[in-house]
Amino acid sequence: MNYPENDSDFRCITCLTPTVCQLFGVRLPAQNNDTPIQAVLDAAKKELGDEPVQKMLIFAPDAVGIQLWEKYPENLPRVQNLAPVRVPIRSVMPSVTPVNFASMYSGALPEVHGIQAYAKPVLTCETLFNVFPECEKKTAICSTNNCSIDTIFRKRKVTYISSRTDAESADFTEMLLRNYDYDFILDYMGDYDSIMHKTAPFAPEAIRAYEICIETFERLVKLTDEIWKGYNRLVIWSPDHGSHLRDNGHGTHGSDLPEDLLVYHFYRVKKGIK
Ligand SMILES: [Zn+2]
Repeated sequence: MNYPENDSDFRCITCLTPTVCQLFGVRLPAQNNDTPIQAVLDAAKKELGDEPVQKMLIFAPDAVGIQLWEKYPENLPRVQNLAPVRVPIRSVMPSVTPVNFASMYSGALPEVHGIQAYAKPVLTCETLFNVFPECEKKTAICSTNNCSIDTIFRKRKVTYISSRTDAESADFTEMLLRNYDYDFILDYMGDYDSIMHKTAPFAPEAIRAYEICIETFERLVKLTDEIWKGYNRLVIWSPDHGSHLRDNGHGTHGSDLPEDLLVYHFYRVKKGIK
């Protein structure tokens, strides 16, 4: 693989949680063990001064790794123009979805949060889905039935929308944005992951699913700018892991190969117009 960052520039996937907590002024989940991303704090300071962020959309496209941006660099500006702070991220091992989303939203490593293999139990450690509702920030998760994000963050004071398809999850996210006053919405998309497992990471059907992730992010960010224009707001593009081609010709992940571990997260902070 070929990417411009130095290996030492990569942050652990746990860094999302302390970054978001700092920007909102919300306390850290108890098991958090990481520190905020300085480039994101700097961008927020420039845009907001000392004001906090008030609204957040996190977009989680499963398995969209750096290798996709390397292979299709023409797609990079589409996301980077909307969310210009690009943060190189290293997933935790094993590089599978529940392990990584658990780390991303708790700030804790797998041996601390407890999911160390492909399993989807309800997490018992604290996460953003505890500390946000605790300070009256209305929180919703829009994802697909029984996916990791749908199961591991249950039993919190969160609105769970468990839909049949990625397209419906995005439509429900739009409904929440338009009709309800949520402070934190997480929208998950799993089609790229499931299609690349059935085909291959660069198969045309998989690439179409990757492009649909970008189109959906564009649509939802535009909506946040319309509906949340009066609020200081944050959008984040944050996948869990990448993928690689197995010798059986199909896509997979879970290993410590760079193709599986390395992803980009993209952040944008925008000031509300009073
Ligand atoms: Zn997968």
